[in-house]
Amino acid sequence: MSPKHHPSYELLLDYATGNLPLAPSVIVAVHCSMCQECTEILNSINMAGAALIEDLDKEKLDINSLDKVLAQLDDSIDEVKEEAIFNNNNFNFKMPKTLQNYIPTTINWKNLSSGVSTAELISNEDFNLDIYKITSGYKIPKHTHTGYEYTMVIDGGFTDNNKYFGPGDFSLLDNTNEHSPKADPDKDCYCIVSLDSQIKLTGPIGRLFNFINN
Ligand SMILES: [Zn+2]
Repeated sequence: MSPKHHPSYELLLDYATGNLPLAPSVIVAVHCSMCQECTEILNSINMAGAALIEDLDKEKLDINSLDKVLAQLDDSIDEVKEEAIFNNNNFNFKMPKTLQNYIPTTINWKNLSSGVSTAELISNEDFNLDIYKITSGYKIPKHTHTGYEYTMVIDGGFTDNNKYFGPGDFSLLDNTNEHSPKADPDKDCYCIVSLDSQIKLTGPIGRLFNFINN
């Protein structure tokens, strides 16, 4: 089934032009590897970029650099056409191939609460990339963020603010969004998440957690 929630055009543009940090870029790349619609938008951005470069006065450009840029654009277009899944023994479902390089052989799960565990895939100053496992039927306490939260569902699904997110679905939230995602009742949900700051719990239990943690 095709994803229903997509990155914005501006975000795809940032991704295509290398203006997005690594961790959210991986999420956008994984989404595009599962989404024909965004792959086509990405291809058109890349082709427009290539045409723009070709239109420039070539005499003023180092022709070797131009060839390198065009080759990179070709590579990025090929990348999204790759076969989309691979088997990893840590999981009982097939993982998007674009994530393969970031999944360690041994996953060190940390329990965040009775229903959520997480493992770090990329550690970075700006944005981390983590994989989250939400136990079937578990509802994450209401929280908001002090920065951006990029999320993509890998397997299973969750409902959040009356919207359903299944495999391949993408979400970008900021500090104006308060939410409390709930995993499907019959299946654990696996997501990749990139946060540029800590989450801030806002419900009554959440406020107590914040108090204890500070
Ligand atoms: Zn898409």
